[in-house]
Amino acid sequence: HTVNVDLGDRSYDILIGPGVLSEAGKHIESIFGKRDFFLISDSNCYDLLGHDLEAMLNGEGLSVKSIVFPAGEQSKNLKQVEDITRRLVELGADRQSVILALGGGVTGDVAGFVASIYMRGIPFIQIPTTLLAQVDSSVGGKTGVDLPEGKNLVGTFYQPRLVLSDIGVLATLPQKELNNGLAEVIKYGAIWDADFFAFLEKNHEGCKNLEPEVIAYIVKRSCEIKAQVVALDEKEGDLRRILNFGHTIGHAIEASSNFSITHGEAVAIGMVAAGRISMEKGLLAQDDFNRLTNLIKDLGLPHTVPASTSPEDILVKIRHDKKAKGGRVHFVLLEGIGKTVITPEVTDEDVLKSISGSIH
Ligand code: NAD
Ligand code: ZN
Repeated sequence: HTVNVDLGDRSYDILIGPGVLSEAGKHIESIFGKRDFFLISDSNCYDLLGHDLEAMLNGEGLSVKSIVFPAGEQSKNLKQVEDITRRLVELGADRQSVILALGGGVTGDVAGFVASIYMRGIPFIQIPTTLLAQVDSSVGGKTGVDLPEGKNLVGTFYQPRLVLSDIGVLATLPQKELNNGLAEVIKYGAIWDADFFAFLEKNHEGCKNLEPEVIAYIVKRSCEIKAQVVALDEKEGDLRRILNFGHTIGHAIEASSNFSITHGEAVAIGMVAAGRISMEKGLLAQDDFNRLTNLIKDLGLPHTVPASTSPEDILVKIRHDKKAKGGRVHFVLLEGIGKTVITPEVTDEDVLKSISGSIH
């Protein structure tokens, strides 16, 4: 499958399927010819995939050198950016060089940010290796790192020149990482595409078992939906906000649990809570709410807030988020499967009720 992200002269292709990585050299060379390539990867991905990819590309006559950093969100910081850029200088990277970002969302965000600022910007290719990175972070051009004060506070909008999404690499992905991606996939169906939602309902077993045709299709359809939203609204105006469905309450749950609840789990719970608010406000039919909850359950994601988290604390975290964003939280609610409405009119009571209703 090929998905084109249509952004005028910054448009690019996402190539999706099994075996994409084995043809990486051909794809890379067709865009850039023979230049100096720098593979940036976290330690896990380098060991699993990067080492072989580097050898393969060098064997095909491309010049590839690797820069490896420790895996994990802790690496998404400015010190890491400094280390990687200094290493690029040391290895002789110049304005013609190209960065290959091989890894999950952390690698894509850090390497993309580095590409956007190294010598005022050099091209980069995304090679996402987690489901989350394939369906979400590799599409849309947001790059960046965290500060001690908060996540993603420093960054750029910078588009890759090509995305290579090999679904075969997902075989080694731990279940909880897979779930992080699945939550975003459910989100795309819920906010944008009732047919895709129905596909997921029908194929939830195939999803969980990583059946190649099912996974290739969900990665493709997810990329198309995100690409479409991003192309209509590249720099986070109103439309792009719908991608935050489930995330307002989700982020608060994540933070409130001290990140023991993963992003995907928190977003799943957040989508159910937002669905319940939608229902309470008479926007969403009970039937559609049940479909949302059931799909989340069928895909092995949680739909209730663990009893160990306090609804009041979740509320405090939402208010904190609100302050950081200038006093307004725009809630994304559902009017049906595939249909959203954005409203500032969600009260603390609405939120409390939605999460209290779901504590188990
Ligand atoms: P990640 O990059 O940390 O990857 C998760 C773990 O899986 C890591 O330990 C990694 O080494 C390992 N891994 C990666 N590929 C593997 C594979 N094929 N097999 C086995 N293990 C593998 O995390 P993530 O969930 O991919 O991304 C999360 C990050 O993405 C967050 O920092 C988030 O802020 C960011 N993000 C960015 C955007 C965006 O638009 N730029 C969107 C969503 C999320
Ligand atoms: Zn998310």
